[in-house]
Amino acid sequence: MIKIKYQIPGFLAGFIALFLGFVFTGCIGGGGEDVAVDPSGQYLLAPPDGSTPGSGTDDPDPISAEGCSSSDPNHMCIGIKFVVYKDANENPVMTREEASSLIAKVNGLWQQCNIAFQIDEYQAVNPVAYGLTYSSGAQSQTTQIRSTFSNNTTFLVVVTGPWSSSYIAWTAMPGSVPYGVVACAEYGDDRVTIAHELGHYLGLDHHSTQTNLLYYIAYPTSTALTATQCSAARNTTMDYWQQMLR
Ligand SMILES: [Zn+2]
Repeated sequence: MIKIKYQIPGFLAGFIALFLGFVFTGCIGGGGEDVAVDPSGQYLLAPPDGSTPGSGTDDPDPISAEGCSSSDPNHMCIGIKFVVYKDANENPVMTREEASSLIAKVNGLWQQCNIAFQIDEYQAVNPVAYGLTYSSGAQSQTTQIRSTFSNNTTFLVVVTGPWSSSYIAWTAMPGSVPYGVVACAEYGDDRVTIAHELGHYLGLDHHSTQTNLLYYIAYPTSTALTATQCSAARNTTMDYWQQMLR
């Protein structure tokens, strides 16, 4: 995968990205703006400037990540394989309980579309055993990571070690295999980051409104989804992910 970084103003980057027909996102940080144009069509997400990962108001009644199927015929419950990296001391970057708590909060956000996720499988892996790199090198292994852990019956979410990068997460859009979300440890437990990436998994493009979940920066307050987005996400699920429904 080729990734090109520019140091140019956001509006100009947007214009260029539109002109080139590429998908882009970026981040505000350090007085400048990094914008990545990714010819492969994969999405990367930038961290919010000055916001603490995981901060923001949680929904009062998050939906359990331990089983989201429902008798409601309009409810969609999608199974996830949640893979976390273990560091050199065999400590996973997220425990099973932390992953479950995260997905419950993600469900609180996706509730507005009547879509929820459950963790069907949690796996804490030593990346080295798979020929993968624990920390920042993981950024260049997103395809390899997805190929290693993805399957045809669950969504894949992989949280690696820390990246210390301008980018915090990647997701391939439907139609661009291999599938999966790959996030860095710093933001792997951030509900907006993971809910945003699952939005890409569900076929949603970026949205221009800062309060929208698909805004290209993961602010804690970027949580809204429109009726149009909900409809698109549901349609994508029926078109691509019926095997993942529970
Ligand atoms: Zn994104």
